Amino acid sequence: MGAMRRKLEWVETKNFQGWVCTECAWAFNPSGPLVGQSIDEMKKRYEKQRDLEFTSHVCAEHPRTTKNPC
Ligand SMILES: [Zn+2]
Repeated sequence: MGAMRRKLEWVETKNFQGWVCTECAWAFNPSGPLVGQSIDEMKKRYEKQRDLEFTSHVCAEHPRTTKNPC
Protein backbone atom coordinates (compact mmCIF):
# COMPACT_ATOMS: atom_id res chain seq x y z
CA MET A 1 0.00 0.00 0.00
CA GLY A 2 1.23 3.45 -0.84
CA ALA A 3 1.07 6.35 1.51
CA MET A 4 -2.30 7.99 1.85
CA ARG A 5 -1.64 11.19 0.04
CA ARG A 6 -5.25 12.10 -0.46
CA LYS A 7 -6.46 15.29 1.10
CA LEU A 8 -9.64 17.19 1.63
CA GLU A 9 -9.93 20.15 -0.63
CA TRP A 10 -12.51 22.93 -0.77
CA VAL A 11 -13.73 23.69 -4.25
CA GLU A 12 -16.07 26.30 -5.60
CA THR A 13 -17.45 26.21 -9.10
CA LYS A 14 -20.66 27.40 -10.72
CA ASN A 15 -22.29 24.04 -10.12
CA PHE A 16 -20.62 22.80 -7.00
CA GLN A 17 -19.37 24.07 -3.73
CA GLY A 18 -17.98 21.80 -1.10
CA TRP A 19 -15.31 19.43 0.07
CA VAL A 20 -13.78 16.93 -2.30
CA CYS A 21 -11.00 14.38 -2.28
CA THR A 22 -7.84 15.33 -4.14
CA GLU A 23 -7.36 11.77 -5.34
CA CYS A 24 -10.80 10.79 -6.61
CA ALA A 25 -14.29 12.04 -7.39
CA TRP A 26 -15.56 11.74 -3.84
CA ALA A 27 -17.39 14.78 -2.50
CA PHE A 28 -18.84 15.40 0.90
CA ASN A 29 -22.61 15.50 1.12
CA PRO A 30 -23.86 16.40 4.56
CA SER A 31 -26.67 14.05 5.48
CA GLY A 32 -29.64 15.70 7.07
CA PRO A 33 -29.88 19.12 8.60
CA LEU A 34 -27.12 20.38 10.78
CA VAL A 35 -28.18 20.66 14.36
CA GLY A 36 -26.45 22.22 17.28
CA GLN A 37 -26.97 24.69 20.02
CA SER A 38 -24.62 27.16 18.43
CA ILE A 39 -22.94 27.93 15.14
CA ASP A 40 -19.74 26.69 16.66
CA GLU A 41 -21.28 23.37 17.62
CA MET A 42 -22.86 22.98 14.19
CA LYS A 43 -19.51 23.65 12.61
CA LYS A 44 -17.80 21.10 14.80
CA ARG A 45 -20.39 18.46 13.96
CA TYR A 46 -20.14 19.27 10.29
CA GLU A 47 -16.38 18.93 10.38
CA LYS A 48 -16.53 15.73 12.35
CA GLN A 49 -18.98 14.18 9.90
CA ARG A 50 -16.91 15.41 6.98
CA ASP A 51 -13.68 14.02 8.38
CA LEU A 52 -15.32 10.72 9.24
CA GLU A 53 -16.75 10.25 5.76
CA PHE A 54 -13.56 11.36 4.14
CA THR A 55 -11.51 8.93 6.18
CA SER A 56 -13.85 6.03 5.48
CA HIS A 57 -14.35 6.50 1.75
CA VAL A 58 -12.43 4.34 -0.71
CA CYS A 59 -10.89 6.25 -3.58
CA ALA A 60 -11.14 3.27 -5.91
CA GLU A 61 -14.91 3.35 -5.54
CA HIS A 62 -15.11 6.93 -6.74
CA PRO A 63 -13.22 6.95 -10.02
CA ARG A 64 -12.78 10.27 -11.68
CA THR A 65 -14.34 10.73 -15.06
CA THR A 66 -11.59 12.71 -16.62
CA LYS A 67 -12.08 14.06 -20.06
CA ASN A 68 -8.37 14.44 -20.61
CA PRO A 69 -6.60 11.51 -18.99
CA CYS A 70 -2.87 11.93 -18.72
ZN1 LIG B 1 -10.72 9.70 -2.53
